[in-house]
Amino acid sequence: MANAIQDFDALVIGAGFSGMYMLKSLRDKLGLKVRVYEAGDTVGGTWYWNRYPGARCDSDSYIYCFTFDKQLLQEWEWSERYPEQPEILRYLEHVAARHDLKRDIQFGTRVTGGEYDEKTNLWTVQTDKGDNVTARYVIAAVGTLSDTNLPQFKGLEEFKGKRYHTSKFPHTGVDFTGKRVAVVGTGATAVQAIPEIAQQAKHLTVFQRTANYCVPARNGKVDPDLVKTRKADYDGVVKRVRESFFGQEHYFIPKSVLEVSAEEREREFERMWDAGGFAYWLANYQDMFFDQKANDVCADFIRRKIRATVKDPKVAEKLMPKGHAYGCKRQPLDTNYYETYNKPNVLLVDAATDGGIEEITEKGIRAGGKEYEVDIIVFATGFDAMTGPLTKLNLKGRGGRTLDKEWSEGPRSYLGVSVAGFPNLFTITGPQSPSVLSNMPVSIEQHVDWITDCIDNMRKNGQTAIEATPEAQEQWVKHVNEVVGATLMVKANSWYMGANIPGKPRTFLPYLGPEGVGGYRKKCDEIAAKGYEGFNLG
Ligand code: NAP
Repeated sequence: MANAIQDFDALVIGAGFSGMYMLKSLRDKLGLKVRVYEAGDTVGGTWYWNRYPGARCDSDSYIYCFTFDKQLLQEWEWSERYPEQPEILRYLEHVAARHDLKRDIQFGTRVTGGEYDEKTNLWTVQTDKGDNVTARYVIAAVGTLSDTNLPQFKGLEEFKGKRYHTSKFPHTGVDFTGKRVAVVGTGATAVQAIPEIAQQAKHLTVFQRTANYCVPARNGKVDPDLVKTRKADYDGVVKRVRESFFGQEHYFIPKSVLEVSAEEREREFERMWDAGGFAYWLANYQDMFFDQKANDVCADFIRRKIRATVKDPKVAEKLMPKGHAYGCKRQPLDTNYYETYNKPNVLLVDAATDGGIEEITEKGIRAGGKEYEVDIIVFATGFDAMTGPLTKLNLKGRGGRTLDKEWSEGPRSYLGVSVAGFPNLFTITGPQSPSVLSNMPVSIEQHVDWITDCIDNMRKNGQTAIEATPEAQEQWVKHVNEVVGATLMVKANSWYMGANIPGKPRTFLPYLGPEGVGGYRKKCDEIAAKGYEGFNLG
């Protein structure tokens, strides 16, 4: 029904990397009337909220950026290999100003619900600021790691000191000088924060539930000649990362680690270790994710590095990853993480050895029957990843169905960008797309471009509704699970598997290959070329 009241052509939820580019694309390419709702006070998403000490990007800056603005690729100078959170936020502010994005973004506004009207093919969306607006399309650009997980420890409210979650860190910063601090968690966030906090705090106690395999980031200034070379070949860089497996310039060694000599693999391991970053994780031998024996060889190299770095053998033993294969939880990148445990003011409390957290007390944390008194607790306990930010939107699709119920046994989507029963809703880097397994801006730009083309196509054909068919969705879900089922990834208690959230169904949340983001991009383009195969359009 064309003449129902329609406030906007499209509503975009979130103004991080994805929401910003979605707005730019729909407004400036297609000329649509777009409104973006953003809970924060400015653009940035992840980089607006996550302001903990040491927060920086784990992907190399030359590829952790927008590529749609070629001139900006040439002009922007990143200060380091991995820029810190304030610099990324400055970059995103610059993009917002350069493309005049803010005039269509309503800040300080959280979407609280919405419903799809099957008669008009329009969404009505409500916000916590009283907005109640209609639009043809809703695009969730809510991020994948934006729904904070604060475990409900017994006694949490009793603590008399200050407590913070890394994902909602005060914008004014926190002064740890002279304080006794606890950090709960040892994931990628904690691994960045712990060395920084340890430098300031009088005493730091780290509560570890699962030891991780960390590899050195090797941050620093990038050789100006390398910067020049990359800039001269940005088209090539963009093409390569788009066609790659992980949206990075990392490629597996096309051999089994078990078939090469001990000398050869040691040389290769050292080379990757020295390169730093994701090299050891994403450019390792090709059977590392598939074969436990192959994985053990790669894991053993990291264990040896930990033993060589941590002086106290008892502490080193606590830091040995156990019970999960290397690379099957997200690889943290570290700068002086293991070295930090050599400091006299740092104590590691390991759940397996010392006892897990029993309760939060007025004065600190009780674990293994012992109370650790602290002034500040920093929870680095992660997120309800991928599905959490979407289900919390309270969107009602066809017949009033909700994502919460539809996904009660794990997410079901078509291509990770669309859900059967939720017409005209698109999910940027949603569950069952490569998303968090890739360098995010690459996957974000791919989804935004695909959604833009799809909407453009619909408008040219006079269509007002698009919806994934249940059959196409079932096939996609089956495919996603089959591919990952052949790997070791499904065995780890990772947030990729939803294992960090009590009661969350155990399902692999993103989409792993088989040809990575390059193959996935091709698949999405083929589906579009076949008239959006697997979708009903009308
Ligand atoms: P995370 O990887 O989920 O780590 C959370 C930590 O808290 C884990 O050590 C976890 O232990 C622990 N934990 C959770 N619940 C607990 C409980 N009830 N009791 C005790 N310990 C508990 O979260 P994160 O470190 O915030 O990282 C999340 C993701 O954000 C990363 O994997 C990465 O994708 C992204 N990230 C990106 C960057 C970057 O690129 N700049 C930086 C940081 C994070 P278990 O391991 O036992 O669950």
